[in-house]
Amino acid sequence: DPILELIGVRKSYNQGTPVETEVLHGIDLAMAPGEFCALIGPSGSGKSTLLNIIGLLDRPTGGKLLIGERDTAALDDAGLTALRGETIGFVFQNHHLITAFTALENVMMPILVGRGFPNGEMAQRADRLLEQVGLAAWRNAKVNNLSGGQQQRVAIARALARQPAIVLADEPTGNLDTKAAESVFELMREINRREGTSFLIVTHNLSLADRCDRTIEVVDGKILSDRKAAA
Ligand code: ADP
Ligand code: ADP
Repeated sequence: DPILELIGVRKSYNQGTPVETEVLHGIDLAMAPGEFCALIGPSGSGKSTLLNIIGLLDRPTGGKLLIGERDTAALDDAGLTALRGETIGFVFQNHHLITAFTALENVMMPILVGRGFPNGEMAQRADRLLEQVGLAAWRNAKVNNLSGGQQQRVAIARALARQPAIVLADEPTGNLDTKAAESVFELMREINRREGTSFLIVTHNLSLADRCDRTIEVVDGKILSDRKAAA
């Protein structure tokens, strides 16, 4: 069964006003568990809008979004927030970490707001995640003392804190040099293979997109192509 499915999803900004503009024009898309997908397309084509809708940060203005088997239209805002926390991890281009906090504190944050992790286990769990992303030795370093690549690794550990089914990454390597971009990409790939976490990665880097299982191309608010890599 798909982990998420969009059926004819539309999004208009400024709905009901004279300047209403539709930026997504009927998106059909399903993702299977464990898929590692790139989302490509020119600037302004609707990639971030699509990611925000899939990530339950914004609601479609038409069509259906199912997460697991659940129709998200039936959920109120609190229901969406809860489902988001249980299902989705985010990685942004500018990491969105709290730079005055340590790596460990940043990774612990979503665990703190989540449920089901007793106090003693929280730090342990965050430590294990930092180990997974190769930053065990940096656990007490303030984030603003880390390199761009290391900061993005902390952001990935934080995204994984509540064991999401899918990580949505908006240009996660966009601000990194080639070498750091490569290592951050490889880290996501490794987590995908080891944990079975799905990834949907917005990228302008076509050579990285080529190394994903599947590449979805959005142009002018529509899916222009959707290709699986040869096995
Ligand atoms: P991409 O991520 O592919 O660059 P976006 O999803 O950011 O594309 O934007 C798609 C279109 O929607 C663009 O024309 C953009 O200007 C418009 N847009 C995005 N966010 C808003 C908003 N909050 N209000 C109005 N228009 C928006
Ligand atoms: P990107 O292209 O990297 O997705 P943008 O710079 O287009 O990012 O957009 C940054 C923010 O501004 C987003 O939150 C987006 O929703 C908002 N935005 C983009 N275009 C518009 C617009 N025409 N009107 C209002 N908000 C917009």
